[in-house]
Amino acid sequence: MITAENLPRSVKCPFCESENTELHSAFGTTLALVQYVCNECNTPFEWIKWEKERKKKPV
Ligand SMILES: [Zn+2]
Repeated sequence: MITAENLPRSVKCPFCESENTELHSAFGTTLALVQYVCNECNTPFEWIKWEKERKKKPV
């Protein structure tokens, strides 16, 4: 099971590419997504929890 502790504290913002982001919610619109908020451009965005695994193993 994926918990908030397994998640990176910050990820790269897709809008301004800043890494000054923080975890906003461990659960986004689906269980596969978590929500982060960018402190630079103040934009919330969703991040796919298993993005790395998806790249390794395309469906
Ligand atoms: Zn940003």
